[in-house]
Amino acid sequence: MRKALITGITGQDGAYLAQLLLREGYEVYGLLRRSASAELIGERLRWLGVIDDVRLIDGDLSDLSSVLRIMAEVKPDEVYNLAAQSFVHASWQQPLLTGNITGIGAVNVLEAVRLVHPAARFYQASSSEMFGKIQAALQNETTPFYPRSPYAAAKLYAHWMTVNYRESFGLHCSSGILFNHESPLRGIEFVTRKVTDGVARIKLGLASELKLGNLDATRDWGHARDYVRAMWLMLQQETPDDYVVATGRTTSIRALCAMAFGYAGLDWTAYVHTSSDLLRPAEVDVLHGDATKARTTLGWAPTCTLEEMVAEMVEADLARHRARTATRPPTEALLAGG
Ligand code: GDP
Repeated sequence: MRKALITGITGQDGAYLAQLLLREGYEVYGLLRRSASAELIGERLRWLGVIDDVRLIDGDLSDLSSVLRIMAEVKPDEVYNLAAQSFVHASWQQPLLTGNITGIGAVNVLEAVRLVHPAARFYQASSSEMFGKIQAALQNETTPFYPRSPYAAAKLYAHWMTVNYRESFGLHCSSGILFNHESPLRGIEFVTRKVTDGVARIKLGLASELKLGNLDATRDWGHARDYVRAMWLMLQQETPDDYVVATGRTTSIRALCAMAFGYAGLDWTAYVHTSSDLLRPAEVDVLHGDATKARTTLGWAPTCTLEEMVAEMVEADLARHRARTATRPPTEALLAGG
């Protein structure tokens, strides 16, 4: 049985990837950083119904000795490095932590592969944020990078170290430059989930407005379930390489709002307000990917449209809020005013 090790297994992509690998017959191991909120740790794996099928091992990406120990214990055929401090806005508040986890953390995993188990195939979760202030209207593998946040700069370091370990040591290291990918499991701090959660709250009378930042930015949004398949396909290739993964369609935050509120029968202009507190010190105005290489070499293509994904996310958030309000204990209901 093939074995896979996933860092960041409790995140959105980790959960979908674990589900895919289990279906493909893998034994799936996940590196787990213990935290005080233990019951929340497996929330996404639980939502997908795979929590009991994965093996979680205590360890921390920023602690090389724990990564070395896990690599020696598991000896995985494939290693997927998805762990990161992944929220761009927070990276200005915690630039060093972001550098340690998102940048150095990746190199800890690369070092563990090189020193302990060089036969493993390695996947690095690179990001379209590395294109930042875009240098070409459509971004592909040859487009120069121009990071615009501590997060993007840390991702760029990890990306080039992945390329470097492939070229220096002949390791099977691939990097997926993934454009934004979302789902009902996306963290609430990201704009898609913030919008679909806001739509659900407003629709159910739990909120009356939604505060957002820059509505003019555009993103190339795909579904995480499609994107984890691209990760897996990269590690099935004889030759390691780097690939852009994107839908090829870019949409503004404004149009996303119209779509999500419209799905629930609401006029977004009546509810969305902007706040300068939510603007970023430096913005990535446009991301628009060209995934021709992934399509032709990997045979990968997205299966879910933005409209379908937004509908799935709004439905999931409506269901979550309905379930929460239905089970709310009477005292809590009284304290919250009804
Ligand atoms: P990112 O592309 O990885 O930074 O993903 P996000 O979902 O966090 O942000 C996507 C875009 O939405 C960025 O250009 C943000 O400036 C913009 N945006 C506008 N309002 C908000 C907001 O309230 N929250 C977040 N997270 N992003 C917002």
